Amino acid sequence: MFPQHVIARKRDGAALSAEEITAFVRGATDGSWADYQLTAMLMAIFLNGMTPAEVAAYTEAMMHSGTVADLSQVPGRKVDKHSTGGVGDKVSLPLAAMVSACGVPVPMISGRGLGHSGGTLDKLESIPGFNVSLSLADYAAQVARIGCALIGQTQDLAPSDKKLYALRDVTATVECIPLICGSIMSKKLAEGIDGLVLDVKFGRAAFMKDLDQARELATAMVEIGRAMGKEVRALLTAMDQPLGRAVGNAVEVAESVACLRGEGPADLMEVTTALGVEMLLIGRVVDTAPAARAMLDRVVADGSALRKFAEIVEAQGGDPRVTVDPTGVLPQAKLQMPVPAERDGVVSDVDGMAVALAALRLGAGRTRAEDNVDPAVGITALVKLGERVEAGQPLAVIHANDDTAGREAEVKLRDGITISDTVPEPRPLIAERIG
Ligand code: URA
Repeated sequence: MFPQHVIARKRDGAALSAEEITAFVRGATDGSWADYQLTAMLMAIFLNGMTPAEVAAYTEAMMHSGTVADLSQVPGRKVDKHSTGGVGDKVSLPLAAMVSACGVPVPMISGRGLGHSGGTLDKLESIPGFNVSLSLADYAAQVARIGCALIGQTQDLAPSDKKLYALRDVTATVECIPLICGSIMSKKLAEGIDGLVLDVKFGRAAFMKDLDQARELATAMVEIGRAMGKEVRALLTAMDQPLGRAVGNAVEVAESVACLRGEGPADLMEVTTALGVEMLLIGRVVDTAPAARAMLDRVVADGSALRKFAEIVEAQGGDPRVTVDPTGVLPQAKLQMPVPAERDGVVSDVDGMAVALAALRLGAGRTRAEDNVDPAVGITALVKLGERVEAGQPLAVIHANDDTAGREAEVKLRDGITISDTVPEPRPLIAERIG
């Protein structure tokens, strides 16, 4: 099967056979297709789309391009969660500990931040000593032993996606629902899970800008999961203002610890709990949503979720005292710069994208995959939509290691926060549930 013939068929709008799609994915994995042929195919898919059968064949071929983890020795239904990415989205940290404290094993393979959105691995690595690079065998053993492991993608997990994602990133072919669906689901299905809860974000600071796009992506991913025999559900959640009050790495770990102590910001706890409810239902440890909610509240109130987080941190080489004294353990930036409000009023807008760009300017994120992040910098005490402020009161505190970066971040942050006299319309955070 010549690459150029398969590319020509997709270019002309044909639906490819499973064999043709498998040849394309094999070509990405073993290098038998040149990069220019792979990118021509990606662009043809971007322009002409894929049928549900093509997306299923693509996902399956990518999933089998590497190892599929075997968690059969772990009792119970293994359930993971995946977010399509946002700002201040540290949900995975408290959620993994809460759900695993409720008795549902959570094997979680996460990513790094790129561009405006943060990544779970960068946040975890701000805990001194925390190792996200476990082998698949150690990952499986840890899930069996303590009910949770939080790791990064390994070389042998869906390697075709690694190749294709890198090419998509530089050829304007990222924003394509069939390609995103195949990319995310192939990695998740290779983790050895029984079920998956997706947090598909929509809004200014999300990949999907509106609810219709988010719904289309969520539906495609839920259907693929089902076709592969997994229980998959999705929540469509708003990503206009950041989640919680902290954006960065160490500062987001500290906010996650606050959640596990029962002191988390309301919006962050709302999304975390809603996703947790779905995970407990898929995990079959409860029968109803109210029972799931009560169980999640209980593991926070009795400290078992916080202890579980300490156990995970310790198992992965990190300092578990982060759960007792986050400020003492986590890296701290040299400068703490409050951003005072210039007038009295009500916070009528907090643009998540502007906040993300401010954090990026401080060094909390990366603009290229090979960049290092500064774990200590970021933003805390960020005001939320609808809050009343007085002139001089801080809208946020910038944590910087460099005065110029701090000042520039302040300009970006101020651009994104609007104070006015009118109270904004409250918008629901969780818009829809699919599956
Ligand atoms: N995240 C992924 O893993 N893949 C995509 O294509 C988009 C977001």
